[in-house]
Amino acid sequence: MGTTSLKQQQLDALKARVEASDITPELKEGATQLVFADGNAEADIVFIGEAPGKREDEQGIPFIGAAGKFLSEMLGLINLKREDVYITNIVKYRPPNNRDPLPAEKEAWLPILVEQLEILRPKMIVTLGRHSMDVLLPGLKISQVHGQPMQYRDHVYLPLFHPAAALYNGGMRQTLIDDFMRIPTILKQTNHI
Ligand code: URA
Repeated sequence: MGTTSLKQQQLDALKARVEASDITPELKEGATQLVFADGNAEADIVFIGEAPGKREDEQGIPFIGAAGKFLSEMLGLINLKREDVYITNIVKYRPPNNRDPLPAEKEAWLPILVEQLEILRPKMIVTLGRHSMDVLLPGLKISQVHGQPMQYRDHVYLPLFHPAAALYNGGMRQTLIDDFMRIPTILKQTNHI
């Protein structure tokens, strides 16, 4: 085993702090466990989804259900594996019956996401779906900005459709795949910013 990187140590400390805290206590009460993140703390790319679903809640790992399988397939299309990227959600406890996270829940979790991103300092942040986009890039419409990289404050963002929304919708599915395939080119360009 290699040594744990400084970033991973900082993320572990943040996770421990979150576990001991009471962010969205109703969600915490109803969930099996915290779903903090998965992947590589040294990654160039961070993917941010909405909230854990049933499988994620059971296993404590984000994006391992049907949407996660689709995400892994798309990563394969650009020659990446899950272990090459960092994957998390805006809300880190499963909402009951997979309902959408409430605005207050997203707001409550935003400072934790911001801390994660400050530790990670990735080259690129990919928001999956409108919930993580709304908190990080407020005021945009995903139907208008999906697939368009943008620089905002300290980061380069790429808003994408959510894989769960696109999974069973042929048109949206192809659009998401097309947008996703642009990631390597966008990443290369960010090296020159
Ligand atoms: N959908 C999400 O947004 N996040 C997950 O972790 C799983 C499904």
